[in-house]
Amino acid sequence: MKFHVLTLFPEMFSGVLHSSMLGRAEEKGILNFNLINIRDFSGNKHNRVDDAPYGGGRGMVMQPQPVFDAYMSVAEKTDTKPYVIYMSPKGQVFNQQKAIELSKKEDVVIICGHYEGIDQRVIDEIVDEEVSVGDYVLTGGEIPAMAVIDSVSRMIDGVLPDEESFTDESHFDGLLEYPHYTRPPVFHGMGVPEVLTSGDHAKIAKWRRTQSLLITKEKRPDLYEKKADIYESELNPPPKKRRKR
Ligand code: SAM
Repeated sequence: MKFHVLTLFPEMFSGVLHSSMLGRAEEKGILNFNLINIRDFSGNKHNRVDDAPYGGGRGMVMQPQPVFDAYMSVAEKTDTKPYVIYMSPKGQVFNQQKAIELSKKEDVVIICGHYEGIDQRVIDEIVDEEVSVGDYVLTGGEIPAMAVIDSVSRMIDGVLPDEESFTDESHFDGLLEYPHYTRPPVFHGMGVPEVLTSGDHAKIAKWRRTQSLLITKEKRPDLYEKKADIYESELNPPPKKRRKR
């Protein structure tokens, strides 16, 4: 999968995209990161890409032409139209489901805004979807883009060591994950739940599932509510009927 990132600050990405799992996936040729500096498409000798907003008001607005030209530099080279995301606090809030959906695309263009944002006309013309990372405002779209790239990449075959690494995790099936423990067996007077050292894999799986249900119920009742009937009957199974003799 190819991520084409249109940004005014490509240097912000190098540490994140070229290290750890993402860096290894890039080396293996599973992922490709194409960082495009929108400023290279300014078309003027001062490399200016922003201007004052029509109608007045604070801040500056990113002009449509450099963003469009930066996008075209990608679109001209792909066989089909790339899927275009604009990172924006006005978009749908990103979640695991969206990460899975995006991981099925071949070429994804991610546009990072800055200042007051981007001229609406280029958004209307090329953007398929606006994506937010939460109901708060950041200085630019670069940190949101990195979060999206990281979580989408983890859904792609070969990026993580095995599929269980993500199917087991929080949010994959609508629940939060169970707690983890490792050595030492006692830390600051606290032990480890006995079942985890029992070697009984069925019991461990059952304990983890129960913890997952209880933690979701406590910490994210909004998620739990979505399938509360099923989860409740799992936590409190109806008593088995006795057979008549
Ligand atoms: N004036 C805009 C508004 O009120 O909606 C905010 C602009 S913000 C300072 C600059 C850029 O940061 C945006 O164009 C967007 O690309 C990015 N950004 C800020 N908050 C974001 C969020 N929650 N999710 C995704 N991108 C965000």
